[in-house]
Amino acid sequence: MSPAALFIHREVVGGHEVSTIVILELPASSSTSTDMRLFLDTANVTEIRACIGPGVTGIRKFGIFCCTLFFLIFLSPVHALEPPAKSYRFIWLVPKNVTAKKYTVGQMNRSVKIVQRWFLKQTGKTFRINPVEVIMGDENRDWYTNTGNDGKWNTIHNAIKEVFRKNGTFWGDEKHEYRYIVYISADGAGGANGVPRFVGLPQEDVDGVTSKQWDSRWAGGLAHEIGHTLRLDHEGDDENDVMRMGYLNLKTTYLSKQNITKMLEATTNKGWLISRLRGDAPTDPPSPSSKKDSL
Ligand SMILES: [Zn+2]
Repeated sequence: MSPAALFIHREVVGGHEVSTIVILELPASSSTSTDMRLFLDTANVTEIRACIGPGVTGIRKFGIFCCTLFFLIFLSPVHALEPPAKSYRFIWLVPKNVTAKKYTVGQMNRSVKIVQRWFLKQTGKTFRINPVEVIMGDENRDWYTNTGNDGKWNTIHNAIKEVFRKNGTFWGDEKHEYRYIVYISADGAGGANGVPRFVGLPQEDVDGVTSKQWDSRWAGGLAHEIGHTLRLDHEGDDENDVMRMGYLNLKTTYLSKQNITKMLEATTNKGWLISRLRGDAPTDPPSPSSKKDSL
């Protein structure tokens, strides 16, 4: 079923209360079906489900007009919001026969935030994030796993194709200024798979964000995969590095000096890294007087 929003317009005409119920439906193939954007496109007014009160056509039409106007005036500025350039987009691709849960989306957002902060703490730099977007998939769950000739990689290959198509980009598109971290509710292998612009995280990672280890094992996995998008590989002999086995627990892992340097110096990361998170105080060096005080 397509996601839908419902609103009611009420007014009193000639002593009678007239209510018009308008249903907004979002086509399943819509490209930007984030929680926020579900409600914003007035072009999606597909159905007037009911009119309660006196059945005066003129009044009903007026009601619909008012509702549409309301949506245009109050919600269209949000519609215009695009993620900032050179930012990471986090997408949950939800197959047609899977129900998206709000709690899972909330946990994904929490995971993203702690990983963003973790990179800042480790390297002094981190990446721009956007709220998790939920995209309704075109196919059923098993289709993603079983379609194609790539075995265990079918799932994320199918996910990347769909997400790219819906966001107007393609493999090797150098001009596109987003990197995609995609959770897909279907079984398969996960990983960056050699594509720095895309990470696929399958069913076990979706389950992981609502498990007890969400901020250790599963946030560790997320940090590792984001590390790949920041041009890091499985190098070095430090087994506790997040790019080696350290990903098994974000709370105890770190980035080795070698990897920090590589990340900060990679030309492909130019313009992608920020030094401060919104709401954080600037990290100015202590002034001479405060230094004195602390002695
Ligand atoms: Zn890896």
